[in-house]
Amino acid sequence: MSVSRRHFVGGIAAAIGALKVGSDVELFAQNRPAGAAPRMATPAPDDWDGYAHLSSNENCWGPPENVMKAMNGAWKYSNRYGYPDGNIVEEIAKHHGVRPENILLTAGSGEVLDVVATTYLLGGKKVLGVEPTYSTVYQHATSIKTTAIKLPLGKDYRQDMNAMIKAANTRASEIGFVYLCNPNNPTGIHVSSAEVKQLLDGVPKGMPVLIDEAYHHFVDAHDYATSVPYVIEGRPVIIARTFSKIAALAGMRCGYAIAPKEMIDQMRPYSMGSINALVKWGAVASLKDAQGQAKIKKMVVDLREKTSAELRGYGYEVLPSQTNFFMVSIGREIQPVIEEFRQRKVLVGRPFPPMTTHMRVSVGTADEMDRFTKAFKDIFPAKAAVRTTAVA
Ligand code: PLP
Repeated sequence: MSVSRRHFVGGIAAAIGALKVGSDVELFAQNRPAGAAPRMATPAPDDWDGYAHLSSNENCWGPPENVMKAMNGAWKYSNRYGYPDGNIVEEIAKHHGVRPENILLTAGSGEVLDVVATTYLLGGKKVLGVEPTYSTVYQHATSIKTTAIKLPLGKDYRQDMNAMIKAANTRASEIGFVYLCNPNNPTGIHVSSAEVKQLLDGVPKGMPVLIDEAYHHFVDAHDYATSVPYVIEGRPVIIARTFSKIAALAGMRCGYAIAPKEMIDQMRPYSMGSINALVKWGAVASLKDAQGQAKIKKMVVDLREKTSAELRGYGYEVLPSQTNFFMVSIGREIQPVIEEFRQRKVLVGRPFPPMTTHMRVSVGTADEMDRFTKAFKDIFPAKAAVRTTAVA
């Protein structure tokens, strides 16, 4: 029996209505392919501020004053196609010690993930990565009628480089590229620079590796490093970066790829090349704002560690995170728990199969974290304290 799209959409809309949400845009927007996990339904606009937004790993403090000033100064270009853009591509290239030809500017790093997937998977090749991870590349693979080879996480929820290398070699002819999210979303756990090297040395020569560094700016681990030097070496490595996290510009949509020129040339035809005037100026101001970024990082790390310690003291294991979010083991299925938090005006992360008895929580303001902890203690009983896991 076939189910018409109208009926299907109607059913979803009714479900959303029951949740009292503003619209169904989040479920259907942003070209999410069929079969993609739905985004969290968004609270209605008049109710928006009443929620603690801890579900999407955003920067709760918003752009600092100098970034706002730079964006506000660019309004005068809003009616133009051609305008000064703050030399954003040159500034990004200078920031990383690469050439402008090594940069592809995109509407958020989500576009980088889509563009890489289109470039290297069209024709039926597969992406190799772990599960759970940030699943945009997998969803995009589905939308272009191919699939992913997904490996389970290894010990302590870490990405297993040996397994990745083995699969990359034994199934080389099927694979279009390897995806490594570092640090990984949703676990918050990083891959050391030695492990990245092991992976890059171990995969078949010439196999593209996409390294997603969306949360790079929050990492403290002494054994972590950006993988940009591999691009400079000329290896087939693509780095994805975003202004959505540390720079607090998620709603403005700006990110970029760093890769060898030949790869950027292969990718560019699949990118939109359409970034708004305001964010270009804001992004350049943010790139130069090391002090502002350090301030955000400190607030995030302090609040993350404070909340994690409180949860461990209450008896719940928290994974050691290097990002602006963390995962707590709740010992039961997450889906109904999301709703329990929602009823308490706290939005927490979606399910990340197969880790469906863990909850991902983004770091919000001190007040939001207090509200989260209070709701947590309301929903879950106290248990014997968990001994602190050392942060690598
Ligand atoms: N990569 C990772 C690991 C993410 O977590 C996200 C967003 O949460 C993105 C990429 C995409 O972010 P944006 O498109 O806003 O740059």
